[in-house]
Amino acid sequence: MMKIILGFWLDSASYPDALHGQEASAGTVVTGFNGLLGILETQLGLTIPKQSENLRIAEWQEMLRKHDNGNRLYSPSYQTDSWNTARELLRRRDELVLTGWDPTIHMGGSKWLELLGELEQSNQNRTRGLPDRVRALLAKLNEPVQVHIDTITIVDEDETLWDPWCKQLIEKLNHHGVEMVKAPVEKENQEEPTTDLSLLKRVLAGESLSQEAKGDGSLLLVRSEQEWDAADFLTSWLQEHGNEQTVVIKDEGSLLLDELLHRRGVAGAGAEGASKWRAVLQVLPLTIDTYWNPIRVERMMELVTIPTSPIPGRIRYRLATALANHPGIGGPVWTEAIEQGLGHYEEAWVEEGLDDQEKKKRRKNLEEKLDLWVRHEYYDPNEGMPLETFVHICQKVSQWAASTYQRTHDPIYAQAIKHAQEVLDGVRTLGVTSVSQLQVGRIMDSVLGEGAKLSHYGEEAAPWQVVNHPGQIWGEADTILWWGFLKNMSGPSIRTWTVKERNWLKEQGVFLTEEDVRRRREAASWQQAIRYANRKLILFAPAKVKGEEIPIHPLWDEIRYAVVKDHHTEKKLTLDPAEWRKQPSVTLFEEPFERVGLNKRNIPEPIRTWQVPEKVVIPREEESATSFESLIGCPVKWTFRYAAKVKPGSALSIPHESLMLGNLGHVILEHLITEKSSWSEQEVRLRAGELFDELMPKLAAPLLEPKNSIRRDETRRHLQTSLQQFFKVLHQAGVQIQHTELELQKPWSEGVEFKGRLDLVGETRTGKKILFDAKWSRKPSNYKERLEKVSIQLTLYHWLLADHEDEELPVAYFMLRSGHFYSLPHEDFPEDYHVPGPSLLENHDMVRKSVEDVWTQLQQGTIIAPGVPSSDAEEAGSFASIIDPPCMYCEYQNLCGVRRLTT
Ligand code: SF4
Repeated sequence: MMKIILGFWLDSASYPDALHGQEASAGTVVTGFNGLLGILETQLGLTIPKQSENLRIAEWQEMLRKHDNGNRLYSPSYQTDSWNTARELLRRRDELVLTGWDPTIHMGGSKWLELLGELEQSNQNRTRGLPDRVRALLAKLNEPVQVHIDTITIVDEDETLWDPWCKQLIEKLNHHGVEMVKAPVEKENQEEPTTDLSLLKRVLAGESLSQEAKGDGSLLLVRSEQEWDAADFLTSWLQEHGNEQTVVIKDEGSLLLDELLHRRGVAGAGAEGASKWRAVLQVLPLTIDTYWNPIRVERMMELVTIPTSPIPGRIRYRLATALANHPGIGGPVWTEAIEQGLGHYEEAWVEEGLDDQEKKKRRKNLEEKLDLWVRHEYYDPNEGMPLETFVHICQKVSQWAASTYQRTHDPIYAQAIKHAQEVLDGVRTLGVTSVSQLQVGRIMDSVLGEGAKLSHYGEEAAPWQVVNHPGQIWGEADTILWWGFLKNMSGPSIRTWTVKERNWLKEQGVFLTEEDVRRRREAASWQQAIRYANRKLILFAPAKVKGEEIPIHPLWDEIRYAVVKDHHTEKKLTLDPAEWRKQPSVTLFEEPFERVGLNKRNIPEPIRTWQVPEKVVIPREEESATSFESLIGCPVKWTFRYAAKVKPGSALSIPHESLMLGNLGHVILEHLITEKSSWSEQEVRLRAGELFDELMPKLAAPLLEPKNSIRRDETRRHLQTSLQQFFKVLHQAGVQIQHTELELQKPWSEGVEFKGRLDLVGETRTGKKILFDAKWSRKPSNYKERLEKVSIQLTLYHWLLADHEDEELPVAYFMLRSGHFYSLPHEDFPEDYHVPGPSLLENHDMVRKSVEDVWTQLQQGTIIAPGVPSSDAEEAGSFASIIDPPCMYCEYQNLCGVRRLTT
């Protein structure tokens, strides 16, 4: 026969556990009422599979919809938020049923009670929740059944604080012959010397003593500004003094605490915080988000880049790169990425030696996946998407999760399947043919709820015991450490029933848990921490948790009232661990804490001159304007990027605005040039506007978002005006554009080819070639300055374009945002746009010399990082560049050490 130790709070964890520090006693279980319910169900053959609450809400949503004639008490709220209305009415129904309310007997009461009665009676085939299980068990216990429990030892002191159903259950078990034993209350040993803790216990037990706490360390409040310091103290304490007689109350636990415990090699207490930001669980909401209009490219970017993305691997990285350069969907770059990815798969299938039929099957499968994840319709969020589409998405996500689960056995995928099913049930029971974004959002929020438990933060085996709540301690411990001794911020419980309704229910013999009982029960459980701590009680109360201020636990007020008379005494009981950390090894209330110094290690100094073996870093076979610009600006940067191929680990993301708008402007300009050679001003304006509207979703979709509407209109206007200006100036100057994105190459030196892609190349009235580089910038004058000093890119492209070494062709920057032109002085381009600057031929000589100088140095094994200043004047002179080092936007600042420079 089984023996049970029962306490209201003992469902999830307890101290002591069943063994109570003794020999294993077979058949003894420590549990709360939920556990007891489960044991009895098993004994009496009442077990049913556990059902999800979301399924029950979905059922209620459907039922409410069927009963809704527009004039129901719930009709107005149902129309605005059907899901949460169903959830609230179900909660009320559960509260009633749990206490024994039966609408076939208890008729009337109030309009709400009548309504719930009607709904309950019409809902015969319901999925059963906890209240239904409790009522079924209580009903079963009215029959002559066999209960295989010998004794129940009740550890709670005050049974009047139980919910009414718990009392009913115990009564019935008693009738069935289960012996009820009250656990003896352990008395304070009056002989022992008085400590702060024993004094507190005696005052709380009702003795009237006028003594004050002395600050002997038996009762301590660890009050830190930040969570970190408190966690550090707790870790030290456990490391030095934690044993089998120590209990940690962890509340929900804290990731930070567990991280720190792990770092110091101490067993983690377990953090219960769940996260819905687990990548696997994000697949469903992300996919649905990408089906709404306007297209949300950042959500698409997430979908293709999350580690568990369901999009086929060889395609998704290409799509991510396409989005990072052209943030839109369906444009040429996007389509090309898909085509290339598909091509890559096909090549792999050929290598695998698959036959045609298998290849066809796989191709079809891939196409289907693409249609689901990235090539689909977009829907208006208010009008909604067709139910079939929604169902299809949920089913496919579920299938994807199921097949991944089979491979990995990671339970998170099982949870993803469950979520997809529950969302689907929720949406189906809405009874609509198309489902709006709002409707999906509410159901999704409820289903995803808090998300999934973080699997890496489970409780680990340790000599001490961990509980969540002080109510779970029912036996003496030497030391109790209460982590998160803070006020619960969940707010007051909601009042559901009016006094009149409560009274009516009472008259019917239906007893709801009294409102003050919950409060008193909670307060009594806090005192267990004081009552069962034998030697020490340490309370950890950081003032801020995750940056937010949280008030101290209300029990502290009681403690203060009992044993603290003034601020001075309170101070003696309080310890600031931040202060304590600054001290060397200390003894705190007779407990020594050893500190061990760590060896100091300096971070490396920035390095200006890097030495490598000779002839190791050498010119590449192909160079470009960008690579030469970095070679001249900073040889170390060039070496990292092009010789050592150190790639910055930047995550793919939507490009910053100027890059995105620059791309869009370029493409529109290119379209205009290829469509026609001469445009009237009005025509340009109209056509540029049309192209902008057409290409924006493909290349700059973020502009479609409502929050960007001003930016969108402004950009459209700017582009229309500047492109008008472009064609007007070219027309007046008699310039004809002949090539866009012209690729050229020329030998630079022996064994090195120079390659470039020139933006726009045309012909002037006198038959000379002319080069334009179109840029999008909020600060066009930067480009003017470049021409005044030296523009490496234009210099090199000019050299590439010129047929003769001594020929000087006209070149110009065109600013896409403002319509400005900046050109070097040349008779073939209007003077208004001339900027005085060195001739391109002179520049070329300078660039060539610089490149040669750096190459020579590299060959000799010396590489300079000019951004790192030199302390030695002679060494500083060994490198003089024609441009400043590009440190500001350099990804290698940490490697060369520029980031560590303080001056
Ligand atoms: S931060 Fe400056 S000095 Fe350092 S590698 Fe980059 S460009 Fe060169």
